[in-house]
Amino acid sequence: MKDTMKLEFTAVSANEPFARNAVAAYCLRFDPSLDELSDVKTAVSEAVTNCIVHAYAGGQYAEGARLVCISCTAEGDTLHIEISDRGRGIGDVAQAVEPFFTTAEEEERSGMGFTIMQTFMTTFSLDSAPGAGTTVRMSKRFGRPQGEAAPRGALADAR
Ligand code: ATP
Ligand code: MG
Repeated sequence: MKDTMKLEFTAVSANEPFARNAVAAYCLRFDPSLDELSDVKTAVSEAVTNCIVHAYAGGQYAEGARLVCISCTAEGDTLHIEISDRGRGIGDVAQAVEPFFTTAEEEERSGMGFTIMQTFMTTFSLDSAPGAGTTVRMSKRFGRPQGEAAPRGALADAR
């Protein structure tokens, strides 16, 4: 059975820990290992930070329009997650996903966000066009080897 959850929030940095921990809470149904939970939190953090930092840069977006949407679906042992914005979009998607590519060098960004998402999740895809916004789709398949302890207080680190 598919089971879904949706979140929509303003693209400000105060909402990044909220988003990361809300998705982590949703993942508890998979009985995740600490490593799996940490992978998902890191990937969500990178995708949401991109929406906050890049999507609405330039000041031409009305305050109420600067939104990030996250939708999660649980299907069997797999989390499907979609993180989208309606911001400026990306002209060259292939270039954007290259390790170390960044358009924000002056902000000392390293250009590793998409690479981290690809590394930590089971699947990753990026859909974006200039002026049309950006959608990141990722999935994570959970499966802990037998005998490994379930995380305790996995959500305690809510920084
Ligand atoms: P880091 O994530 O290491 O801090 P970064 O954000 O520049 O640096 P990536 O996350 O890999 O690196 O993103 C690469 C580039 O893709 C960004 O520099 C930006 O130009 C573009 N980009 C990423 N996400 C978005 C988005 N949601 N909207 C518009 N542009 C984006
Ligand atoms: Mg980034």
